[in-house]
Amino acid sequence: MAAYEFETHEYDVVVVGAGGAGLRATLGMAEQGLKTACVTKVFPTRSHTVAAQGGIAASLSNMGPDHWQWHMYDTVKGSDWLGDTDAMEYLAREAPKAVYELEHYGVPFSRTEEGKIYQRPFGGHTTEFGEGPPVQRTCAAADRTGHAILHTLYGQSLKNNAEFYIEYFAIDLVMSDEGECQGVVCWKLDDGTLHVFNAKMVVLATGGYGRAYFNCTSAHTCTGDGAGMVARAGLPLQDMEFVQFHPTGIFGPGMLITEGARGEGGYLTNSEGERFMERYAPTYKDLASRDVVSRCMTMEIREGRGVGPNKDHIHLHLNHLPPETLAERLPGISESAQIFAGVDLTKEPIPVLPTVHYNMGGIPTNYWGEVMSPTTKEPNKVVPGLMAVGEAGCASVHGANRLGSNSLIDLVVFGRAAAIRAGQVVDAAAPIPVLNMASVDAALDRFDGLRNANGSIETADLRLEMQKTMQEDAAVFRTDKSLSEGVEKMTAVAAKMGDLKVSDRSLVWNTDLMETLELTNLMPNALATIHGAEARKESRGAHAHEDYPDRDDKKWRKHTIAHVDGNKVKLTYRPVVVDPLTTEAEGGIDMKKIAPKARVY
Ligand SMILES: Cc1cc2nc3c(=O)[nH]c(=O)nc-3n(C[C@H](O)[C@H](O)[C@H](O)COP(=O)(O)OP(=O)(O)OC[C@H]3O[C@@H](n4cnc5c(N)ncnc54)[C@H](O)[C@@H]3O)c2cc1C
Repeated sequence: MAAYEFETHEYDVVVVGAGGAGLRATLGMAEQGLKTACVTKVFPTRSHTVAAQGGIAASLSNMGPDHWQWHMYDTVKGSDWLGDTDAMEYLAREAPKAVYELEHYGVPFSRTEEGKIYQRPFGGHTTEFGEGPPVQRTCAAADRTGHAILHTLYGQSLKNNAEFYIEYFAIDLVMSDEGECQGVVCWKLDDGTLHVFNAKMVVLATGGYGRAYFNCTSAHTCTGDGAGMVARAGLPLQDMEFVQFHPTGIFGPGMLITEGARGEGGYLTNSEGERFMERYAPTYKDLASRDVVSRCMTMEIREGRGVGPNKDHIHLHLNHLPPETLAERLPGISESAQIFAGVDLTKEPIPVLPTVHYNMGGIPTNYWGEVMSPTTKEPNKVVPGLMAVGEAGCASVHGANRLGSNSLIDLVVFGRAAAIRAGQVVDAAAPIPVLNMASVDAALDRFDGLRNANGSIETADLRLEMQKTMQEDAAVFRTDKSLSEGVEKMTAVAAKMGDLKVSDRSLVWNTDLMETLELTNLMPNALATIHGAEARKESRGAHAHEDYPDRDDKKWRKHTIAHVDGNKVKLTYRPVVVDPLTTEAEGGIDMKKIAPKARVY
């Protein structure tokens, strides 16, 4: 057994992650007087949320008529009928409240002439249950909305005496023999000390796992650490096969050009200068939802109508828009286009390509953020002491495809919901659970094993193998052949984890070891993704299967539940929640409106 000393910290709640979801949860917990710690591997305001550009969806009706039921309908349709209806209702209903809260906390939103929060159109957001014109629902602070939200929430959390543990890397969960979560084992990156946070509730807000792919818009820190910890605790992941490709990553480096660019009037063209989206989505054109636009771009390129010398990308035009609009509404992407594509977007189109952007799947939760470990008998069974929110979680509001600007709202609505729920289930007067030392030791042993790993493969090399495999075999379009090859290759790649080589044995600022820990998290995420995709014999949302081009609600309107153990994955399924929170008589949505139908834009 590895002999490491560690310091123990006792809290009512420990939140892992300080992105939008983690900070909103932390703030909500602290506001209620729960003793709350927030542990984060990067400085809070460097979390990936800081990069969110376009905005946050809520039916405020500041720019024209809107209704929470229209937002709910769009979310249900966007999810391709895989989202859980109760959670989607909760999201759409609570969204305006959550945005006004942000406004009152101090988020510097862009404003209309009358001083109201400015809202722009975004893909898949419509009026009249998809029958009316696009709606302006996405609240924005220029194209730096995530930046504005993150800084505000951090300030508010400090004001409410939440305690921050910055540059602490969470290694593993501490679980009791009865399956209750009791805390988390962490490594302090700057001095090499080890820490156990012992708490009544652990909230995972660790973000997505874009870095399982070669080309993505996500930060290098998006390595699915929460899902990795959950998988190692023997708990499942949900709907991991649904990976969102954003239509407009800058060709090459992959930096994001927000969908807000198309919201403000931007459009895509092929090598013939044709606005091809008009052909595929006659009503909403360039503002169809992301999975649809990404597929259309890929088809144009495949059919030889890509732009550039190798006909391998597409053009995004903003050069027809007034320079004042670009300067006022899209200053950030004007800069990105200049730096990363060498393009002056007032004059030329930007070269773009669909790029991995968001993970619809994650740790299964109910709409309170409580982690679930579904069984056939108990499909909604809750894991005591454990919550997950934000991109790490899967509530599931995005189902098979997330609408743009629905993630930022998910962060704050469910971060807030988790805090409300914790206020009900965490008894501040109760004693802290007695730590299961066997579980702590197991985490320290794993850490020590990796620290001294002396195999033949460098972490960076194995990571690259994984990223290339995922990029190639679990792409925008998938086939039986690509997916079964992908499963085979990923099984072999994951088997090499035992042969890793870590060269730096120190404990202080050991990035080699940190990246190795991250790879141990990326791997179960990648495995669950490719296995879930291989098994799902239909096309739904972001999962476009060429051998099964249609959605099959009879067989496949169900959530994939994946247990990952080493390089093996066991799949089961869980029914989609089809009942809303309120009936029509109680003021809820007319169920006929959200009955499954073909998804056209
Ligand atoms: C470029 C870009 C633009 C986007 N634009 C928009 C937009 O306009 N609108 C929208 O709705 N969505 C947008 N999205 C999506 C959205 O921003 C993300 O889904 C969301 O910000 C994720 O937030 P989060 O709080 O779940 O996690 P993150 O913001 O990724 O934060 C994760 C946190 O977890 C911590 N952490 C992770 N692992 C560990 C560990 N092992 N130990 C300790 N701490 C850990 C990190 O330090 C960090 O604080 C965008 C995404 C990208 C990549």
